[in-house]
Amino acid sequence: MDFLSYLYIFILGACIGSFINVLALRYNTGMSAVSGSSQCFHCGTPLKWYELIPLVSFIVQLGKCRTCGTYLPWRYFAVEILTGVLFVGIAMRQYYYWPLYSGFQHGLLYSVLFFVFYAFVFSLLVAIMLYDIRHMIIPDPWVYLFIALSLYKLLLFMYCRGFTFMRSDMLDILAWVILFLPFALLWAFSSGRWIGFGDAKLALGIGALLGFTSGLSAVILAFWIGAVWSVGMILWRRFKGQDGTLTFSSEVPFAPFLIIATAIVFFTRIDVLNIGNMIELL
Ligand SMILES: [Zn+2]
Repeated sequence: MDFLSYLYIFILGACIGSFINVLALRYNTGMSAVSGSSQCFHCGTPLKWYELIPLVSFIVQLGKCRTCGTYLPWRYFAVEILTGVLFVGIAMRQYYYWPLYSGFQHGLLYSVLFFVFYAFVFSLLVAIMLYDIRHMIIPDPWVYLFIALSLYKLLLFMYCRGFTFMRSDMLDILAWVILFLPFALLWAFSSGRWIGFGDAKLALGIGALLGFTSGLSAVILAFWIGAVWSVGMILWRRFKGQDGTLTFSSEVPFAPFLIIATAIVFFTRIDVLNIGNMIELL
């Protein structure tokens, strides 16, 4: 694919990112995500249409409200860029896997439909991540939708590829249970102090989406990223002369680490512990 095609896909992603920002901000507040005008969170001035163009408005206004000059949260800008980059990544991945599709009748249609599918799934994950960072909770309808889509993809793949009773296929079809159980047990034993039940549901969806090897890789990677981040936070607090203690579940939402790790594994197919080979050796 050429540069211009990727640019269009990036812009599409940035627009969706802009919508995710609004959705994550307004969900459960009684405000509609699709109607009602956006306003400056500081002075309340309704924003004009030209102040709502993803990326462009933020850059033109140098990240400030045109009326009161308050800096707008950079988070909005970051989410628009992130979603744009994710969309481009998914398109590149579909392009990379094109030889797999080209053998099928209507292969192009399937490839495009899977682009739409993954774009939707990752948009949903970005929304879950934003909401969890803000409210320390994952909205049930969002995570259930993620689980339903992931299970659907799992069944579709097994149907298209043909399920065998080989060890790797058995593990793939059960990956959602295998990833869900440890989180659910951690949640039950700690009465929700170490990990939230929302994280267990998210892990279930990740298992169905990625399969066993990649799913387990994503969970392990999430713990590593979480550990590095937590140590960084503790050092930063010590550096600023604050109390350096950090309790994991109460202060650090885990869903963002799970989602970042899922994206890394999805795009790079990294197998952090060489799990794929270990299965073959068992
Ligand atoms: Zn303002």
